[in-house]
Amino acid sequence: MKTGRLHSIETFGAVDGPGIRTVFFLQGCPARCAYCHNPDTWNPSAGREVELEEIIYRAKRGVPYYGEEGGVTFSGGEPLLQGEFLLEAIDALHKEGIGVAIDTSGTYFDEFSDAVIAACDMVLLDVKHIDEQMFTELTGRGQGPLFDVIDSINKHDIPIWIRQVIVPGFNDTPEYIEALNKFIARIDTVKKVELMGYHNLAESKYEKLGINYKLKDVKPMDRERLGKLSSLTRIA
Ligand code: SF4
Repeated sequence: MKTGRLHSIETFGAVDGPGIRTVFFLQGCPARCAYCHNPDTWNPSAGREVELEEIIYRAKRGVPYYGEEGGVTFSGGEPLLQGEFLLEAIDALHKEGIGVAIDTSGTYFDEFSDAVIAACDMVLLDVKHIDEQMFTELTGRGQGPLFDVIDSINKHDIPIWIRQVIVPGFNDTPEYIEALNKFIARIDTVKKVELMGYHNLAESKYEKLGINYKLKDVKPMDRERLGKLSSLTRIA
């Protein structure tokens, strides 16, 4: 049986998918998003080893609270980095009657990823930027995996929530939201579009880890402006 690498667990999570969820933050991420809140998830060798039994045990403790909509979310880091482990975990959770979502960044896709997406009940997709050059500037990765994730979601007809961090100076314009609307029109199963305002609360983590924080000069996103931009989003 495969083991995974875990960063942390959040119980009673209310923002990473519908309903109340147990969120497993898996360790390791190939991206280096300029605004990442969790740079401590990047190193795939850090965190701790976790066995499937622990995932099932912790997930089952939340069952009385999940209701119709809740369940488990695998986030990260980038969960698709641990596709083989996820396939076993999703299968075991389904056998317990627990629904599973993954929260992916669209920065990684390998030979297991299509099967993982097919097995999920829903996907949360963080669209880092719709422009290829800006995507790479923000994440340090190419946009190819994003399109692979989208193709897989369409192929398997998986419900999806789109999430987009809005960063002043990068994508905080009505024109960007209009372009985002067009971009996600290629996905048939979008259930929700959520804009999240950039903030710089993680800056001190970078200092502690000795990593340069690239957005030092960028101010947190204004809430009112974020609300106005959110009102422009539409599900295609
Ligand atoms: S994909 Fe997520 S975990 Fe990875 S660097 Fe970006 S924000 Fe951080």
